[in-house]
Order: sequence, then C-alpha cells, then structure tokens
Amino acid sequence: MKAANVHVIDHPLVQHKLTLMRKQDTSTSSFRKLLREISMLLAFEVCRDFPTTLVPIETPVAPMMAPKIDGKKIVIMSILRAGTGILDGMLDIIPSARVGHIGLYRDPKTLEPVEYFYKVPNDLRDRDVIVCDPMLATGNSAVAAVARVKKSNPASLKFVCLLACPEGIATFEKGHPDVPVYTAAIDERLNDHGYIVPGLGDAGDRLFGTK
Ligand code: URA
Repeated sequence: MKAANVHVIDHPLVQHKLTLMRKQDTSTSSFRKLLREISMLLAFEVCRDFPTTLVPIETPVAPMMAPKIDGKKIVIMSILRAGTGILDGMLDIIPSARVGHIGLYRDPKTLEPVEYFYKVPNDLRDRDVIVCDPMLATGNSAVAAVARVKKSNPASLKFVCLLACPEGIATFEKGHPDVPVYTAAIDERLNDHGYIVPGLGDAGDRLFGTK
C-alpha cells in the first residue's frame, strides 16, 4: 500500500543501509552510524522542494548570483527518544537548521499519547518543520506530535521515518492528510505488540543499546 502523500525513498544506497540495520546481529554502534547515514540520504529527498534564493558571491574567477537555502527557517523536530537518531543525520546535512523536541508517553489507561516535553524554536510561523521518528507503527504518537506542531502554524510540515507499515500510514493519513510522509520502506504489517513486521525491532533500544 502506498498512498498519494507517501514518498518511499527507494534509492539503492538507502535500501542497502536499511538491510544492514534490520539484521539482528548488527551492533549498536553500527546501527547508530547507519541511521545517521541513512537520515542524510533521506534529507536529500525531503529538502528537494525547498525554495532557494539567489545571493551574490565571488568565485576565484568571477562574481555570480548563486542559490542558497535559508537553513534557519528549517526546524527538525525529534519525537523522543528514537527521533534523535534521524535528527543527527539531518543536522549533518542542514547544520543551520533549528531543532525542536517533543516527548510523548502512552497513558496506560486510555492508551492515548500524553505529552511530557515540548520545546521548539520561537515562532514557527515562517518555518518549515520536519518531524522525525524512525518507526511509523501505530501512528498515534506521530499524529499527536504533528497535531501539536500544527497549533503553532508552521509554514510547512513534513513527517520523516525510516520504516512505516500500512496501519501507521492509514492512521497518519486520517489525522493529517495534508502532511507528506517520507520513508525508506513500507513493511508488511503491525503485530499485536505494536511492532512493525518484519521491521527492525525496537529502534530506540537498538540505537541506544538499552536492551
Ligand atoms: N517502535 C519501534 O521501535 N519498533 C517497532 O517495530 C514499532 C514501534
């Protein structure tokens, strides 16, 4: 299943690195390095439609008007904690981007996402926000995080993940049909424990070595 507003980045380099990340015997340090590298490659596609302005520069040979992205207008928003892995790679490519964080946990009674942390740059109204989380699984935290950012009326919003599944995409598209999703792959399904199948396991644990 691939919906209209979902971009699957099927570049061979992305797919190769994703295969290495999926393998259960990939070490924490390799997993972390691969997520950083793959996020740089995802950033390449996510930024494809960003506007540039012409600025005057001097090359060693001649003056010219050259295109430039206003990186300060870009906000990379990490959904804690695994979103940090994508954030690091994106910042390698867009070093002047501003950074936001959102922390959510699932209320054990209502099963609804509850916000415990929210810190973003001042005034998002003229900024392009990229919300990131490696796994679009149930889709609930992605929907909640994007809804929270929308309250600040950013100039544009995109959601970036490493892996998605049909269930997560359906939930996200229902909540935010206007927000494009960028992912390296759409896997088969979500299992009863909320894991993507075949997936790569718990992205946070594999990134931070917590299990
Ligand atoms: N979160 C993860 O880290 N992995 C999954 O498969 C689903 C949600």
